[in-house]
Amino acid sequence: MLPQKSRYKSPWKRFAVNISLVILLFISALFTGIYFNHQNTIEQGLRNRGQALFSSLVITRKWNALHGGVFVEKTPGMKSNPYLQNPDITARNGKTYTKKNPALMTREISEIADREGAFQFHITSLKPLNPNNTPDPFERQALLSFAQGKSEAIGKEKREGATYYRYMAPLFVEEACLSCHGAQGYKLGDVRGGISVRFNIEGMERALMLNRLLLGLLFAVTLASFLGIVLRLVVALQKKLLAAEELIREMATTDYLTKLKNRRFLLTRLREELGRASRYRHPISCIFFDADHFKRVNDTYGHEAGDTVLKTISATAQEQCRQTDILGRYGGEEFLMILPETDLEQAGALAERLRQAIENQTSIADQHHLRVTATFGVACYSPETTAVQPNLSDFIKQADTAMLEAKKAGRNRVGIAA
Ligand code: GH3
Ligand code: MG
Ligand code: MG
Repeated sequence: MLPQKSRYKSPWKRFAVNISLVILLFISALFTGIYFNHQNTIEQGLRNRGQALFSSLVITRKWNALHGGVFVEKTPGMKSNPYLQNPDITARNGKTYTKKNPALMTREISEIADREGAFQFHITSLKPLNPNNTPDPFERQALLSFAQGKSEAIGKEKREGATYYRYMAPLFVEEACLSCHGAQGYKLGDVRGGISVRFNIEGMERALMLNRLLLGLLFAVTLASFLGIVLRLVVALQKKLLAAEELIREMATTDYLTKLKNRRFLLTRLREELGRASRYRHPISCIFFDADHFKRVNDTYGHEAGDTVLKTISATAQEQCRQTDILGRYGGEEFLMILPETDLEQAGALAERLRQAIENQTSIADQHHLRVTATFGVACYSPETTAVQPNLSDFIKQADTAMLEAKKAGRNRVGIAA
């Protein structure tokens, strides 16, 4: 019986592996989606910050350019812009004022922002008037891409152990620029250069790393929980189905009234045992027995009383059986006992014991004490004496015929097949 169970092991394993793969794929896709969405939001946030810094400076520069540069009082130590033709003027009050044009203003704001540790600006161009405005590799690459029509450039870089975000966008030549830069051959709308913004994102990088770790941990916990739940369900389902299968198999081979094996089971086992007997050259016997005048029991005491008697006969026969014998209800009030490794003499003796046991038993049904007898037919196949192995129905027929002969001879006796 047990080996049949293993039939289900492999499909269950396959089912468990497949469902685990589906869960793995589903949760991986979910977490990958969450990760990239989060990453995009952060990237967008950094870009927005770069854009905001850039535009605030562009607007400040525009204000400066619209005024054609702004004069500030020249305090001690303050240098004049060497790239302007007449940067200084002296007022009637004797004070000197020096001109801060957009480029100088940008650089000075950048220096203050840098000192404050907030961010840095760098105004740059492929043809700078001031060598300080020469582009670095990121800026050069960005400026070249602006010439190709790109509208912004972003990047990250490591500097002194910290990570910086870089953002750069082009500066277009406007009316206000031409007063100073017209001589360089620029026309309105030309890309004159760009302003790059750099800010420290070390803190954010650390937060991102922590976030990645948390996400990874959450992924592992979610995956393990899902797999655990599903695999538990699969195991529970497997147990239930195996139990149901066992029950079905039991029902398919058991007689509902007597709980003995049924005819289908008897025929299957007898075929196997005949083959085994033939192969190993061992004898095998069978006993076919039938309750005597059973119709009378039903007619006199009712069908239920008849059922009780059948159950008593079954229990008595079961007691006489050895571990290796196979007893079953062949049909109606007929029973078959298969006796492997048993010769005709031993089988005859067992049939006689059983006949006496049934004769001496009493069934109590509806306050009636019922005694019935049974008639037996015994057949044996011994490979040592019989050359050809009988087929299943012939073997049963031999026992049945011997039983019918014994019925004719007066019932409650054992007939031995010739
Ligand atoms: P004989 O000694 O020649 O075998 O006579 P018999 O009356 O036993 O044989 P017969 O074939 O005439 O009748 C068998 C009876 O067994 C008829 C049938 O109703 C009864 N029987 C068969 N199966 C069952 C069952 O499951 N329950 C009950 N109560 N009776 C059954
Ligand atoms: Mg009968
Ligand atoms: Mg009968």
